Amino acid sequence: MHRILEDESIAGYEAELGRERIRRAAEEVIGRARLSGDGQAYDAVVAAVRKRLDDLRGSSPLPVINATGILLHTNLGRAPLGPDAVAAIADLGGRYSNLEYDLETGERGSRYAVIGAALRAITGAEDALVINNCAAAVLLVLDTFAKGREVIVARNQLVEIGGGFRLPEVLERSGAKLVEVGTTNRVYIEDFERALSPRTALLLRMHASNYRIEGFTHEPSARDLAVLGRRAGVPVIEDLGGGALCDLAEYGAAHERTVQEAIGDGVALVTFSGDKLLGGPQAGIVAGRANLIARLRNNPLLRALRVGKLTIAALGATLRCYRDRAARERLPLFRQLAATLEELSERAKAYVEALPGASAGESVAYIGGGALPQASIASIAIAVPSERPQRLAARLRAGEPAIVTRIEGGRLLLDLRAIAPHEDHLVIASLLRLAG
Ligand SMILES: *Cc1c(COP(=O)(O)O)cnc(C)c1O
Repeated sequence: MHRILEDESIAGYEAELGRERIRRAAEEVIGRARLSGDGQAYDAVVAAVRKRLDDLRGSSPLPVINATGILLHTNLGRAPLGPDAVAAIADLGGRYSNLEYDLETGERGSRYAVIGAALRAITGAEDALVINNCAAAVLLVLDTFAKGREVIVARNQLVEIGGGFRLPEVLERSGAKLVEVGTTNRVYIEDFERALSPRTALLLRMHASNYRIEGFTHEPSARDLAVLGRRAGVPVIEDLGGGALCDLAEYGAAHERTVQEAIGDGVALVTFSGDKLLGGPQAGIVAGRANLIARLRNNPLLRALRVGKLTIAALGATLRCYRDRAARERLPLFRQLAATLEELSERAKAYVEALPGASAGESVAYIGGGALPQASIASIAIAVPSERPQRLAARLRAGEPAIVTRIEGGRLLLDLRAIAPHEDHLVIASLLRLAG
């Protein structure tokens, strides 16, 4: 032990991790080596200790430059926050706040009050609630309204979204009974009508976030479902996922159904994410009729799904950016969408000039994050010449900062749309270092 602690290659960790943590890591490794009984060589033990210390040191995610051309990449943390949200986190995170305190009366307040008002103003909904993520929002709705009762869903909307969130299984978990109606490609309002019974709790409409059914298809509109729901006294829930609060067609992308449209169609409750098309922090939002939101608020499960002050601070600052288009483009997602091909081509010049053999060409960037799977926007990508593009990609991922690229047709591509302009020089410098 003493020899390990004094080892030159270990001593370098002491300033950052402290001697005690190094000792514990070494004890663990030595203990395991003894247990396995195969008397490991000193060098192997030291290497194993170093590996553990590296893991300890990297105990939070590393920043990454996203050159994949997928703007909302779930594995890369979805939407980057805008400067206002980052400032709000920095400010409120280090201080006390009136998170759940009414400054007027000096009594306990609600952490949902302020953010609820902002969401009402933007979406036109009577009320809104914020919880941990959209999956939790769907779960809370089902748990509140559908336990032991039936939920009618169109057969073409029984989706599995990323991370194994499969709607039929979530329904089962929440104690609701799934009633599938229609066929894989065609579903009519009459199918829903016929399936109504005294046991029906909800009509559920899911957004086809990651698949598309083409050809001879039909599904009832949200408006028709809302009319049917009102007539039958059954709430219609729409899980939008993406949560667009503005029209993406303004940016030359395909129109994506917005929260306002869903509310306007008369849907009783809409669920959506905070970190997808909204461009904010991870959160799940339920917006809709006040009496139903009140029932969600009274569900004891809410306590287990609630969001922290940092999320509320970031979401509030993000929502304030929705006052007009210029403010909205302070959010990285909308700045990325707003960049013209001319601007991207202009940035491409710096890459082509600096990197021998590199060329710029048209590319397609994808919005991702629960937008329609085909939702794309024209972009510009740099092709970097390489004998072994996979190896180059791996070295860029291992670099500082880590850069995640795309390989297409045997070529390594850097799509510029999701790279912030201030990151260009970092990417170029990394490639030059690797080439050197
Ligand atoms: C992404 C998505 C969800 C899950 O959202 P999270 O915020 O990741 O929990 C749910 N429903 C739909 C339709 C989605 O696209």
